[in-house]
Amino acid sequence: MTPLVEARGLVRVYQIRRGLFGRSVPVRAVDGVSLTVMPGETLGIVGESGSGKSTLGRMLLGIDDAQEGRVLYDGQPMPALHTGAWRALRASMQFVYQDPLAALDRRLTIAAQIGEPLEIHDLLPREQRGARVAELMAAVGLRPDQAGRYPHELSGGQRQRAVIARALASKPRLLVCDEPVSALDVSIQAQVVNMLRDLQDQTRIAMVFISHDLKVVRNIADRVAVMYLGRIVEGASSDVLFRSPQHPYTRALVSSVPEPGKQLQGRVILQGEPPNPANRPSGCAFHPRCPLARDVCRAEVPELRRIGEGRTAACHVLTGEPALAAA
Ligand code: SF4
Repeated sequence: MTPLVEARGLVRVYQIRRGLFGRSVPVRAVDGVSLTVMPGETLGIVGESGSGKSTLGRMLLGIDDAQEGRVLYDGQPMPALHTGAWRALRASMQFVYQDPLAALDRRLTIAAQIGEPLEIHDLLPREQRGARVAELMAAVGLRPDQAGRYPHELSGGQRQRAVIARALASKPRLLVCDEPVSALDVSIQAQVVNMLRDLQDQTRIAMVFISHDLKVVRNIADRVAVMYLGRIVEGASSDVLFRSPQHPYTRALVSSVPEPGKQLQGRVILQGEPPNPANRPSGCAFHPRCPLARDVCRAEVPELRRIGEGRTAACHVLTGEPALAAA
């Protein structure tokens, strides 16, 4: 089956100034990432702050350009900007941001904002738009009486439901959600994640779910890619990755996720500082924090390799075949 989205060797470099009068240094926010998203599946992308996962999410939709590499949609490159084909493709791929209040216009009612894509992309006759907005509100669990409210009159969870309803208005085939529940209370997070899972079951929409929170990702992702300083260091199905993480970084992350109804056991505490993209260590970028680091780790970047059926990892200790594509 052709992947809905296929990223090949994506690179994104930012210039960051060190101090007020310091010189600019290049930071490789995304550094040679390859991945696929199949129709109807959810790919979770996890990693600490600064791992490049949000930049990668924007690159998948062409919001941020790739300086190297490319993204294919249904096996085809992105059409030329502002053509009819480009507009149709953009309507079929939507982005959900972390902060729903910032994503919504405070001066417009919720119903007006949910219906905006129908108008922008001219997707339905005007007289049918109201019914479609009501249908979308029901699908995300918003009540009809909330249609005329403004964003500040809703709770955080309700606002995020409205953002998701708006993203679904154009019946997209792909939703990229960047930390969609991290600004919400824990009790509301579960409701929104369950709602996304139900919507996916009903619509078979594909999702890229970006989060630093592995508990949330475990509940929603079919496959997971783990990022560290701009690179994918491990990829596997969600079941396999959470049951038997292989890369030392993944093992530490997974060890901090409690099993439902069980006490946390065998937690691996990561040593050293969280990653700083402007000061990338030599060789394997994880080596200053890795309990298994050896000389080769400081000298050579480990290649992403296939280490088992459907799983990949980049680590000198884990041997396997070179991988054509990650996650
Ligand atoms: Fe640790 Fe070396 Fe593997 Fe990096 S390559 S994760 S430093 S063992």
